Amino acid sequence: MAGLAEHLPAGEMRAMEKIKLGISTCLLGENVRYDGGHKLDRFLTDTLGQYVEYAPVCPEVECGLPIPRESMHLEGNPESPRLVTLRTKQDMTERMVSWALKRVVELEKEGLCGFIFKSDSPSSGMERVRVYNEKGMPVKKGVGMFAKIFMKHYPLLPVEDEGRLHDPKLRENFVERIFALKRWREVLTKKESRGTLVDFHTQHKLLILSHSPKHYQIMGKLVAQAKNIPLKNLYQQYQNILMEALQLKTTPKKNANVLMHMMGYFKEQLSSDEKQELLEVVDHYRQEYIPLIVPMTLINHYVRKYDQPYLKQQVYLNPHPLELQLRNHV
Ligand code: SF4
Repeated sequence: MAGLAEHLPAGEMRAMEKIKLGISTCLLGENVRYDGGHKLDRFLTDTLGQYVEYAPVCPEVECGLPIPRESMHLEGNPESPRLVTLRTKQDMTERMVSWALKRVVELEKEGLCGFIFKSDSPSSGMERVRVYNEKGMPVKKGVGMFAKIFMKHYPLLPVEDEGRLHDPKLRENFVERIFALKRWREVLTKKESRGTLVDFHTQHKLLILSHSPKHYQIMGKLVAQAKNIPLKNLYQQYQNILMEALQLKTTPKKNANVLMHMMGYFKEQLSSDEKQELLEVVDHYRQEYIPLIVPMTLINHYVRKYDQPYLKQQVYLNPHPLELQLRNHV
C-alpha cells in the first residue's frame, strides 16, 4: 500500500510528492504586510518546508489592497466584527468577505492538507484575535475574516498558526495530522476498494488509539461492517471520523497506554529484566520525566529485533520524519 513515506529515510521522503499546505504569505518572508515588512518563520520555511509545498495566501493584498497600506483591525461584535482601517475608518468587510468566499472555492483545486495562519491578524488569525469595542477596548475573542471563512469551508482540515506551532505538543499534533491526511489522500487517488481502506486502517490503528480510544472503537466497528456499507459512503464516513479523531490531542497517558498495548506483543520474547526496563521507561514517560522518543526508540528496537509483523506496519512508530525531532519534546 502506498503512503508509507514515514518509513522512508528523509532523503527519499523529500523526493516524494510534497504535502501541500496553505500559508499566510508573510510567514514565508514575503514583504506583504501593511508596513511593507514580513513575518518570516524559519521553522516553517527551512525545516517543515523540506516536506511541504506552500500555497501562499495574503488576504489583504489579494483582495486588492496596496503595500504598504493603512493598518486595520476588527471592531464591533466579536461574533461578527467589521474589518476597519485604523486612521481613515474605511470598512473593508464586504471587500474581504466577497474575495474570501471566492478564494476558498478556488483553493479546492490545490488539494491542501492543512493551513498555517499568521496569528493575531484581523484577516488571517485563526483565534484570539483582538476585537475592539466602541470605546477602543480590545477583547481577544475574534477570528480573522479570511481564516473564519476558510475554516467554515474546510471544517476538518488541520489548521494552526505559527505562534501555536512553537508549542511542541501542538506542533507534533499538527504535523502528524498533515502527514496522516496526505497518506489518506494517496488512498483516495486509487480505485476505491474495501481492501485498500482496511489496509490503511490497519496501519493507522495505534495512531488513532493514541488520539482517541473512543474513535478507535467506532472506526473498528465501521471497518468490520465495511462490506455492508456502500463504498462511497464508507470512505466518507471513515474520512470524517479519522479527521475528527486526529483533532483530539494525544497525551502522555494515552501514549503510555498504547506503549503498554505494544509491549503485550513481546510477552514471549522479552526477559523479565527487559520487561521491567520497558515498564520503567514507559512510566517515566507517563510522568513526563522523559520525552516520547525514549520509549518509542526502545519499542522500535524490539519491533525490528523480533520482526513483529503487526507492529512493524504501524504508522504510530514513525508518523513523521525523525529529522523534525517532534517526539524529542513531547
Ligand atoms: S497576516 Fe495575512 S493579511 Fe496580513 S500580511 Fe500576513 S498574509 Fe497578509
